[in-house]
Amino acid sequence: MPVNWESLFADRTERMHASDIREILKVTAMPDVISLAGGLPAPEVFPVEEFSLAFERVLAEQGRVALQYSASEGYGPLRELLAERLGRFGTRCAADNILITNGSQQALDLIGKVFLNPGDRVLIEKPSYLGAIQAFDSYQAEYAIVPMDEDGMVTSDLDDVLARERPKLIYALPNFQNPSGRTMSLQRRTQLVEAARRHNVPIVEDDPYGELRYEGRDLPSLKSLDFDDLVIGLGTFSKILAPGLRLAWMVLPDALYEMFVLSKQPADLHTSTIAQMATYEVCKDGFVDRLDALEAYFPPSARWTKAEGGLFVWAELPDGIDTRELLIEAVAQKVAFVPGQSFYADRTGQNTMRLNFSNVTPDRLKLGIERLGGAIERRLAATPARR
Ligand code: PMP
Repeated sequence: MPVNWESLFADRTERMHASDIREILKVTAMPDVISLAGGLPAPEVFPVEEFSLAFERVLAEQGRVALQYSASEGYGPLRELLAERLGRFGTRCAADNILITNGSQQALDLIGKVFLNPGDRVLIEKPSYLGAIQAFDSYQAEYAIVPMDEDGMVTSDLDDVLARERPKLIYALPNFQNPSGRTMSLQRRTQLVEAARRHNVPIVEDDPYGELRYEGRDLPSLKSLDFDDLVIGLGTFSKILAPGLRLAWMVLPDALYEMFVLSKQPADLHTSTIAQMATYEVCKDGFVDRLDALEAYFPPSARWTKAEGGLFVWAELPDGIDTRELLIEAVAQKVAFVPGQSFYADRTGQNTMRLNFSNVTPDRLKLGIERLGGAIERRLAATPARR
């Protein structure tokens, strides 16, 4: 008798399943399909030369350290550099508050591991980042879901929601949210931090896109508005240098630091020594500060979007259009996007979609949008009663 593997799986695997959307999106790897589906930065701007030199130098000068096991906390000089840099952006922290992780995705997983018992609630935005929902799902989380508008998470009912749902954590994406591209206003940020303080609920502030602002003014981070050590900050090199590094950081309150180091150790012992050392080499002379995100990431023809930064535009179509069905038609027309439903922890949002504009040339972006427009028109025509 073959082993019935499923009968052996732990309860926590119940909500781990492959999405059918991924199957459809596999075809988007074909060169003639214009994919607005990914979340990938533009590869032309990866600092290949800088990393080539940095790896060479690290191996020549400190090769035996770079290829050795190293501290779970992360590479000291890189943590120092991050603390200094975050300080310039208003986040008060020391190197001792910084834990280097394998991408922010690992940080989300560690947060689930440290805080969530099965059934514990996480307060999240509607919609929210799919990877976070997947991470929290794997710890059998439940959700308190808060609506958004153009100013980000709606905070007017937060006190009620926090009192009623008693979430363990608040997960917030204040800058150029994935998937909606929205940014939380200063007033909302202040209201969120104050409500969290009144109810003593920690906030996880996930901010991969804050530095990809193309226009307008930077807004203070939640961490910089927090004087009670209630905010855990997440940042990553994925969108400012390159995602293949798998290098990110957590800014942790003193009282949490040791527990997060302990949660990382059994996962991977530490993040790649050589990747951290080479990244430090690349960053130490201010390279990241010289990056011109505007030219690097934002195709000039994409002005049709209202996003002031990030990688995504969010679209809501008329009720009755199911973007999962639309995707099948769109792929036939050789353009792809991500249906929005997966970003809703409550599985609503059937009429929404996320478009990525950073990984195609301006010309192809335009052509893709044109094809998509055609597909939407046809679906609308096919569902006249609900139009
Ligand atoms: N958080 C958000 C909101 C993201 O969009 C992403 C990447 N798409 C991540 C976390 C994970 O980033 P990484 O693991 O590459 O640092």
